[in-house]
Amino acid sequence: MKNDGQEQNATCVRWGLSTMTSFTDQLSDSNDAYVKSFDAHDVPGRAGVHLLLLTCMDSRIVPHAVLGLEVGDMKVIRNAGAQLNPEVERDIVLGSYLLDCDNIVIMAHTRCAMASLSIADVKETLARLSGLDFSTFEPRMIENQEEKLRRDVATLLANPLLKNDVKVQGAIYDVDSGKVNWIC
Ligand SMILES: [Zn+2]
Repeated sequence: MKNDGQEQNATCVRWGLSTMTSFTDQLSDSNDAYVKSFDAHDVPGRAGVHLLLLTCMDSRIVPHAVLGLEVGDMKVIRNAGAQLNPEVERDIVLGSYLLDCDNIVIMAHTRCAMASLSIADVKETLARLSGLDFSTFEPRMIENQEEKLRRDVATLLANPLLKNDVKVQGAIYDVDSGKVNWIC
């Protein structure tokens, strides 16, 4: 919670704000503006271009903008490092049958924190910042990003429950150029 507060304060400072209430007020004001120009009425809940993207939670990635897509076009699942795991895999299987997701793209990115720090370093840093015991905390750090991406694509393709003919591809987004490089 301590860290959340620090993070929030940093954002508040950027927005010229000082309290949590005004942070929410700012979000609410921004949303009011969005509502005024909102024109996505009656957009179907299925993926318009039959695409599901699994990508990292990194704030430099704006998924729809990166791929030139509009509201309603694709499903997006995000986590730390764009990593396949059993829960994500279940969501993708579900999306393949029920949400028209016939194309799955797993998109990692350059300069991803999950692929540049060791588990030991992360645990030590968190323990130092918080004063808490992080010895049993196991973040899913990535040792070799490209190899992990290929493995996740292969794992998903080998899932016997995934809908037939679903295409799965792996890519790495360059956060410094905006370019999506297709890996597998
Ligand atoms: Zn990342």
